[in-house]
Amino acid sequence: MIFENTIAYAQKMDDEDILKSFKNRFHIPIKNGNKVIYFCGNSLGLQANSTSQHLEKVLNDWANMGVEGHFMGDDSWATYHLKFQDLICPLLGALPNEIAVMNSLTANLHIMLAAFYRPNNKRFKIITESRNFSSDLYALSSQVELHGLKPEQTIIEIPPSVGSDLYDEEKIIQLIEANKDSLSLVFLSTVNYYTGQKLRVEKIAKAAKAAGAIIGLDLAHAIGNVSIELHKAEVDFAVWCSYKYLNAGPGGVGGLYVHEKHTQKPNLIRPSGWWGNRSEDRFKMNKNFIPSLDANGFQLSNAPVISMAVQLASLQVFQEAGFNNLLYKSQHLTSYLLFLLKEKCIDTSTPFKFKIITPLALDQRGAQVSILVIQDCPSLYELIKKNEFVIDMRANEVLRITPVPLYNTFEEVYQFVEFFKKHAHLIQ
Ligand SMILES: *Cc1c(COP(=O)(O)O)cnc(C)c1O
Repeated sequence: MIFENTIAYAQKMDDEDILKSFKNRFHIPIKNGNKVIYFCGNSLGLQANSTSQHLEKVLNDWANMGVEGHFMGDDSWATYHLKFQDLICPLLGALPNEIAVMNSLTANLHIMLAAFYRPNNKRFKIITESRNFSSDLYALSSQVELHGLKPEQTIIEIPPSVGSDLYDEEKIIQLIEANKDSLSLVFLSTVNYYTGQKLRVEKIAKAAKAAGAIIGLDLAHAIGNVSIELHKAEVDFAVWCSYKYLNAGPGGVGGLYVHEKHTQKPNLIRPSGWWGNRSEDRFKMNKNFIPSLDANGFQLSNAPVISMAVQLASLQVFQEAGFNNLLYKSQHLTSYLLFLLKEKCIDTSTPFKFKIITPLALDQRGAQVSILVIQDCPSLYELIKKNEFVIDMRANEVLRITPVPLYNTFEEVYQFVEFFKKHAHLIQ
């Protein structure tokens, strides 16, 4: 990709962008009377304009039909969850029978661990990243304790490479091989929330399989952001939340993926609930649980349709835009951000020194760029926040800047780096 460091070039890129009209399909927040430049879709995606219509439809159906809305109308609630299969699967390389939209990420992780982490005397170890998201680490440790084991003797934490915040995939694979006789589970975040590093999980999944372990993935920062082939890579299970890149609103309904080789086993023990029954049995209230032989067999409760309507609105926008078009734009947009940071900031001498910690290679990152600010990151962050930009800060030292292809532009990227240049100085 060859870019130019001029506003005219950024505007030309926007002109030629086949997705440019999609920005108008979202509500852009207002600050100081102006629309903001929103680079925080990795934390909470923006609201699609069509959201209120989708919500109104559900609310009207409820008002007009009461309980009969479960089975009446074109959007009957008893089958509402089935609408998501065709919308989510292209984002994950999953088969329609391998996904279920339900619960939240952490709740789904507990369900998956209860079903797939079944330690015995021989195989009991778990490999994960030492700096995985807190909630994931809590879920892993507590499940280990529920089995009467000690987390410090069970969970092997992979440290980032020395002098870096990034994980070396070869080291992960070596660790898997070194523990192959006692390994039960490998659980990794596909895109790291802090650095934006995307692991090439396909080869790690292969190593986990060869070691006889289960491979599970957290897709919180991956879904809707990067391409992934869960089925082909034979990933066993995965979980995600929907309020980040999927724009499904605060606390939006998450989801899970289970490879069909597992869902087709009727005797697989799992935490069960009536919504996981075969659809023909779901309302019979039988004493015995007979699972639906797909990912829906992991559902527990009847679907939270009101919240799911919000997600449906956004997923339809994704479908209209085309996921491959979004990925193509995303790669260019974030590459342009990285290009401008280098071009513009390399020679300016100002108080803030920074280092880009996100890997530059296209197959090792998504939309997010993380910048380590060497001193006094909070002051720089406050300065940025006072202006029309929305980004976020982690651990008082890292700024996360995320141009999202659905609603960000090349010109916005240009404007941000212009602002940033005045205040920061790049360290190589
Ligand atoms: C955002 C995020 C979560 C959030 O979990 P919830 O259960 O949805 O609150 C968990 N793990 C990772 C890696 C995340 O990025």
